[in-house]
Amino acid sequence: MPSNLRIDPERLWATLMQTAAIGGTAKGGINRQTLTAEDGQVRGWFKREAEALGCRVTVDEVGNMFALRPGRRPDLAPIALGSHLDTQPTGGKFDGNLGVLGALEAMRTLVAAGYETNAPFVVVNWTNEEGARFAPAMLGSGVFAGVYSRAEADAIADIAGVTFGAALEGIGWRGEAEVGMPLSAYLELHIEQGPILEAEEKVIGVVTGVQGVRWYEAAITGRESHAGTTPMPRRADAMVACARLALEVLTIALAHAPTAVGTVGRVEVEPNSPNVIPGVVRMTVDLRHHDDATLAAMEAEMYAAIDRVAAGEKVQIETKKLHDIAAVRFDPQCVAAVRAAAEGLGHAHRDIISGAGHDAVHMSRIAPSAMIFVPCKDGLSHNEAESATLDHCAAGAQVLLEAALALDAKLGGH
Ligand SMILES: [Zn+2]
Repeated sequence: MPSNLRIDPERLWATLMQTAAIGGTAKGGINRQTLTAEDGQVRGWFKREAEALGCRVTVDEVGNMFALRPGRRPDLAPIALGSHLDTQPTGGKFDGNLGVLGALEAMRTLVAAGYETNAPFVVVNWTNEEGARFAPAMLGSGVFAGVYSRAEADAIADIAGVTFGAALEGIGWRGEAEVGMPLSAYLELHIEQGPILEAEEKVIGVVTGVQGVRWYEAAITGRESHAGTTPMPRRADAMVACARLALEVLTIALAHAPTAVGTVGRVEVEPNSPNVIPGVVRMTVDLRHHDDATLAAMEAEMYAAIDRVAAGEKVQIETKKLHDIAAVRFDPQCVAAVRAAAEGLGHAHRDIISGAGHDAVHMSRIAPSAMIFVPCKDGLSHNEAESATLDHCAAGAQVLLEAALALDAKLGGH
């Protein structure tokens, strides 16, 4: 059964629009890259709003922000709700913002009702989720979860040579709190950033996990020779091998439909001349699936295909694995709480795997975690035209609140 607490859809929407003006672009998006003046401004706004609610705001050594409201049991670790307020250079109004501001709306609702939770509730704004200025993405949550050290984060430089540490201090948001704290659960509301919910007219995506990603580089060496004088049977054409391999990647992805994806996204051809048979091609392969065993099978199929293509085209192919990010399965109890909340509120919903990385990926290593997706128009994100409806944002925030309250109830009062 849902609670009798109701978030205020108009208040949530007004907050989304108000903060969208900080770094707002002419095309209706947001340019609020991490650790810029605009990021500092929205951080100040968030702190003031949270403190006005009576929350205690702490900032840790990598700038992650926590707005905490005590529960009736100080012995319990907090339940955290959040996401990120930084954006891509041409970002939209909802990516990340909805997760933080939806959590803030849930907090406002609790405060307005005088509702006492068992565990403390905390709204989180993670530093540098986007990774647009300082790679990698999901950095603040990554340090929090122990994936990176604070020193590693501090040393990362942007293209202008400014380090993360210097930029953090430059905007005055290096906090004093030690990074990391025990949490009872972590929930993150986010736009889907894909087309599935909209196409199926679902309001809520119950995110069960995040797909694993593996990147490879293949260097194909054939033999450069004259395009006019070299008979077809005597060629060792690196580009033809690349083309065959690209089709093999397609076949592998389709063989593991509907959720597997495979992409050849970058190809460099040498000498890249119209009348020379390419001697060298370097190409990337990106394979993704939500199940690591399937991903391993796809990888094995790719290596077998590489051997076949190399033999068939008389070329040499050397491969290197660039990235291997394991798939994430969210905590069954947290996922069930999200599903039950959507169900109880009467929202059309479906289970869904996230195609993109989120702070919840790192958080799931250290706390029971799950995510809630709402649809976005045409599946468009990382784009100034990114759009979601008031109703969908409100539904997501309400599910976030209900799921958090259900998890809180499980922790027990006295
Ligand atoms: Zn995001």
